[in-house]
Amino acid sequence: MARLSLLMICVACTTEPSSVLRRSSLPAQSAEGFTGRLEQSHSLEFVDGFAEMELDLPSDALSLLVEVEGDFDGEYLIHQLVGPQGALVVDHPESDMAEASQLGAAAGPFFSANRSVAARGGTTLLVPNDPYLVMSGGTYHLGIRSTLRRTHRVQLKTWVQTGTAYPQRCQLSVHIHRPTPLADDADIDDRILAAMTEMESIYEQAGIEVSLQGLHQQDQLDSELPNPAVDLEPYRNAFVAGRDGLNLYVVDSIGDEEPPLGGFASAIPLSARANGLFSGVVVALGFSDPGQENDLLGYTMAHESAHGLGLFHVQEFTGWEDPLTDTHPDKGNNLLGVLARHQDRNVSASQALVMRTHPLCRSPGLGD
Ligand SMILES: [Zn+2]
Repeated sequence: MARLSLLMICVACTTEPSSVLRRSSLPAQSAEGFTGRLEQSHSLEFVDGFAEMELDLPSDALSLLVEVEGDFDGEYLIHQLVGPQGALVVDHPESDMAEASQLGAAAGPFFSANRSVAARGGTTLLVPNDPYLVMSGGTYHLGIRSTLRRTHRVQLKTWVQTGTAYPQRCQLSVHIHRPTPLADDADIDDRILAAMTEMESIYEQAGIEVSLQGLHQQDQLDSELPNPAVDLEPYRNAFVAGRDGLNLYVVDSIGDEEPPLGGFASAIPLSARANGLFSGVVVALGFSDPGQENDLLGYTMAHESAHGLGLFHVQEFTGWEDPLTDTHPDKGNNLLGVLARHQDRNVSASQALVMRTHPLCRSPGLGD
């Protein structure tokens, strides 16, 4: 299956270009944060590779998470999300960068105000994934495309969080899963718990209180997973065991490349659902040496989970920078550096707010 980004040819955009409302500073934040949360499901029909629908968001909507659960043999991309009064978040800006990117149909959404990326088996989107974008209630037009030309139906889920201010702090419940052969090894559990402590301290500076809910043994999880770009099936099988919160799967190895892969977030952003294709973050014990002074496991957990909460690399290998104005490549020892290492633990104010906007991180105002 060719990637959507390469396979599809950009067709004419269906809306007039319009300006995007941007704030001059970060939005209002409070100790309470979001005070309401609405969850909805829709069934959507794809015809000739396209589907669209209208989403009505309440007047006090502050964030939206969308998950499309499609067919496993296709790729999907939210290529358009246009709201009221300039709240245009995903579209096809004509830019030199998009033109030169060779991303084809995926270039516009990738370089739009609210970045959107394609994925296999469905896709996800967090709005806003740049806190300077103004989010408002009203009717949004959502457009999705797929590499599959056959007529088929998909499930679309939305999580809308409401209130008058974004959260200054939030709570992230974490479940750790390990395969049966690793689950009996006390030394490995000690290493995992030490890594969790490190992740907790990295997230604390972002206003995120990480709480470990449990260490689980998972029969469906292999100790050695293939590269997810080659074979996603074992990941899909493992993620059905997910529980409410952020699900971290700890294995021996991911793929057999040299250098080895350290981790994999199944989507940017993850779904808020516990047990779907986009509900897991995987980290590999073999990526770093526990005997070394600086074990990278905790850093890798924090980095991959940050992808899961909606963050992109500050700068990709290709040179594309994230859209956030307060991150800088090569500066600030950022957690989301593409080759970040142990000392890279910082997140910017915008990055922290994106992470706290994801429904997996629970606002105090939502209660227990
Ligand atoms: Zn990364």
